[in-house]
Amino acid sequence: MARKHLVWDWNGTLLNDFGAVVSATNTVITEAGGPFLTAEEQGARFRRPIIAYYSELVGRSLTEAEFAELDKAFHAAYLEHLRFVDLHAESRSALSIWPGTQSLLSMWFHQSLMPLITRFDLAEKFALVQGLRSESDGHSKQPHLERHLESLQLRPQECVLIGDTVDDAKSALGLGAQVVLFTGGFSSREQLQGVGVPLADSLSEAVTIAQQL
Ligand SMILES: [Mg+2]
Repeated sequence: MARKHLVWDWNGTLLNDFGAVVSATNTVITEAGGPFLTAEEQGARFRRPIIAYYSELVGRSLTEAEFAELDKAFHAAYLEHLRFVDLHAESRSALSIWPGTQSLLSMWFHQSLMPLITRFDLAEKFALVQGLRSESDGHSKQPHLERHLESLQLRPQECVLIGDTVDDAKSALGLGAQVVLFTGGFSSREQLQGVGVPLADSLSEAVTIAQQL
């Protein structure tokens, strides 16, 4: 195995919360005058920075202040759905396969993330669990991943990330880490195919591929 450390994405990857994200996004976008979108449409159109994504859905350029309001409303709506959300069926078994160290890096708020880690009894699986410490900015994961690896005293070249979005891939590759994208999260295989990184239809397959990178 060339890589000794595996960084897991949370939303859409270990946590099966795409339905909650779709519902919460529809709540805020329709209230802002945008269209109601199916899960498939949202998966196809989602991108970071999220202000650009929301602006496209609403049909005009949102100001930073307008986006901050929508983002706040999104998180409130998402929290309503969160108590019905579970891990993907395969998450626990996938977490048991990797022979090296593992950590979790989420773009969800750290203070909201930690109770979920406790709820799902996952703390012992990870050398480090980090969410967002600051206000959500909807920007790329890359600077957060850079700091995450620094905290772990790891070079990106020693690491592989398993995520479910184009931004996960760009963030890992941008630092020199490897990446596998899971097609059962926010984006379908068709949407991820153009990224040019290994894709996996299951989390255990993602870990198996990660071991070969
Ligand atoms: Mg994700």
